[in-house]
Amino acid sequence: MAKFYYQIKGRQPASPNREAEWAWPPVFSGMVEAETRKEAKGQVEELYDRQFPMRVLRSDMTEHAYLLHIQELREHDTYLLRRFEDTACKECGTVFKLIDKYNDPNTETTSHDYCTDACLKTARFRDVQEFRLANEGKLPAVIYQVRQKSTGKVYIGQTTQPFTLRWWQHLTNPTGCKFHSALGSTDITDWDFSVLEVITYPEGCSSRAAYITQRESHWIEALSAVDAGFNTVRPAGIADQAQVLLPLAERA
Ligand SMILES: [Zn+2]
Repeated sequence: MAKFYYQIKGRQPASPNREAEWAWPPVFSGMVEAETRKEAKGQVEELYDRQFPMRVLRSDMTEHAYLLHIQELREHDTYLLRRFEDTACKECGTVFKLIDKYNDPNTETTSHDYCTDACLKTARFRDVQEFRLANEGKLPAVIYQVRQKSTGKVYIGQTTQPFTLRWWQHLTNPTGCKFHSALGSTDITDWDFSVLEVITYPEGCSSRAAYITQRESHWIEALSAVDAGFNTVRPAGIADQAQVLLPLAERA
């Protein structure tokens, strides 16, 4: 006995700007076991109590509402065979067959791994959270510098994103600030980019964001980035930021 995969395709009627065609997805897809393709066809026709053409000339399409496609399944047709296998939802364990989803015009999802859209979304949300956790620490926040070689002027910035992305953003999403104006009006070879500090949070640090800003302020002052460089504003005063390092109880 061999396995035969079959699809019953329905005709999509012609419209003023489109010829009639076989609609996708098929009306139904299934599998029968038979000795020959002809026997498989016989089984499908018995199941539906009607005959199906397996070839229809384009000029004859108006006379046929359905078209039957049959293909013998070989061992290597795993992607088709898998549709007929019991699959456990990776989120909730509910057993489903992918083929039932394909045959259900109202199916929420044709996901191969999850039974419903809700399970798919739950799993995706967790994946994103896990990705964030896994990458925390691998791509630490940094203070970076963009320096114009010909003048020695610098721009200091902070980012919690991959720092290469931040540089790319400065180049591709310029605003009207003096840094972007200079960057856009000179050759890129006149610039270098570097990381000044990789942020490691001190013990007892209660606000990471404030601590990063504190380190950014330090570098802006140290390199005169506002007075002689491309930064336009000083981040919040260093004096206020110093409190970040103090345990909550000791704060004013
Ligand atoms: Zn599920």
